[in-house]
Amino acid sequence: MRNKLVLAAALAACASLPALAQQDFSKVEIKTEKLAEGVWMLTGAGGNIGLSAGADGVFMIDSQYAPLTDKIRAAIAGLSPRPVRFLFNTHWHGDHVGGNENLGKTGVVIVAQENVRKRMSTEQFIKMFNMKEPPSPAAALPLVTFVDSISFHVNGDDVEAFHVPPAHTDGDAIVYFRKANVLHMGDTFFNGMYPFVDLSSGGTIAGMIGACDRGLSMGDASTRVIPGHGPSGNKADLKAFRDMLVSSRDAIAPLVKAGKTLDEVKALKPTATLDEKWGKGFVKPDVWATLLYTDLSGNK
Ligand SMILES: [Zn+2]
Repeated sequence: MRNKLVLAAALAACASLPALAQQDFSKVEIKTEKLAEGVWMLTGAGGNIGLSAGADGVFMIDSQYAPLTDKIRAAIAGLSPRPVRFLFNTHWHGDHVGGNENLGKTGVVIVAQENVRKRMSTEQFIKMFNMKEPPSPAAALPLVTFVDSISFHVNGDDVEAFHVPPAHTDGDAIVYFRKANVLHMGDTFFNGMYPFVDLSSGGTIAGMIGACDRGLSMGDASTRVIPGHGPSGNKADLKAFRDMLVSSRDAIAPLVKAGKTLDEVKALKPTATLDEKWGKGFVKPDVWATLLYTDLSGNK
C-alpha cells in the first residue's frame, strides 16, 4: 500500500491522475518570478510555465491544469495587457497541457513536437502505474507541430525550440530564449530531485542525460534555467542533475548486468549516497531505483 502511494505520488508529478481531480486547486496560488527583461517563470501546480511578454503579445510555455487557467490568466494580466498568442508544450503530460483546451478555445495557437500531438490524440497507457489517459479534445491539441526544431521571433527575441531524442517522453522539446538567455528544459530537468521518466512514452535514462547535455551546450554561466519541476536554476544546477543521472545509472547498470532481481537491487539501496540530496521530491529512492532497473533491464 505504502509503495502504491509512493508510486502514485511519483506519477502525480508528471501526468494527470484520477486523484488529481480531487486536488483542491482553489488553494493554489500562481506566483511569477522575473528571470530576464520580459521573461518570467510562473509556478502554481504542475509543470513550471515559461512566459515572454512584450509588443507582440504573450508567448507561453506549458499550461498546468485546467482549473488553474483563470488564475494563470490573471497572473499574466498583471505582467502584460496583451493576449496570449502562442502556447508551446514541452511534452504531452497532463500537468503541462491541462490548460490547453481553455486556451485553445480562445484562439491561442498551440505548438508542440509532432509526437505530443500524436500521444494527445489517442488513449495513452503508462504501464508502470497501470494508468490510462484518454485522448484530449480537439481544442487542446497542438495546431502546429514540428519534427526537429522551430523558431519564434517574438518580443524582440529569437526563441528556439529543439526536439531532444526520447528522454522524459518521446516528444520533449527544450526552449531557449536567445537574447534573454533563458532556457526551459521541460521535464528533462527536475531541479534538486529525482525525475519521473515515462518509459511507456518512450522515455529513457540515456535520453535524459542526452537532453541535459544538449541544454548544457547552450548559453553560458549566467543562463537562467527553468526546470519542469522545482525552483528556477542555472547551468550549474542542470550539470549537478545531469551528473546525478549518470551516477544513478552507473550504480544500477552493473547490478542489472549481474542478473539481480528488482527486489535485490532495491534492498542494496544503490543510490544511497544520492538519496539525501535528490530523494525528497515526488520520486522517492525506491521509485527511482525501479524506474532505472526497468529501463536498463529492457523490461518496459
Ligand atoms: Zn512530465
